[in-house]
Parts: sequence; structure tokens; C-alpha cells
Amino acid sequence: MITHEELKWQVFHWSKKIGVKPIEIHVREMKRKWASCSSKGRLTFNKAIMKKSEDFLKEVIVHELLHLKYPNHGKMFKVLMRSYLNAKN
Ligand SMILES: [Zn+2]
Repeated sequence: MITHEELKWQVFHWSKKIGVKPIEIHVREMKRKWASCSSKGRLTFNKAIMKKSEDFLKEVIVHELLHLKYPNHGKMFKVLMRSYLNAKN
């Protein structure tokens, strides 16, 4: 299980790689989702995610950050998602 700080660090790490700047990062309890992002760039992560595996975490983080560039799950979104997830770090 990771801490809030570690989660935020991961988000910053991936933000730099992807080239986006989330304005706020929140961690709280959520009922139906692992994370969400507002059009203004505010990211919210489900607290429960801190108990998940590193791979899962990475997937959720990259997914949300990519939404700051691409609002939907189109072709570019999928291509980039796959390439970031296949990267070693
Ligand atoms: Zn999505």
C-alpha cells in the first residue's frame, strides 16, 4: 500500500512524461470510479487505489492524465495509452 505522497509523486512523474499539467490532485473515497478528471484539469483519485498493484495504479494515472489531452477514448488516446503502459518506467 502506498501513501498519498507516493501517489501524488507518481502523478507528477507521469504528468511530466505525458506533458500535461494537472492543476489539482485530490485523493478521496469514491463510490463508482477509480478516478476522474474535470475539464479544467482537476484530478481526483479513489482512496482505495492506494491498495492496488503498481501496474493498476499506473494504468489509472496514465488514463486520467491522457484525458487532459484527449477528452474521449479515441484512436490517439488508445495508441498513447498502450505506448505509455508498455514503457518500462
Ligand atoms: Zn476515460
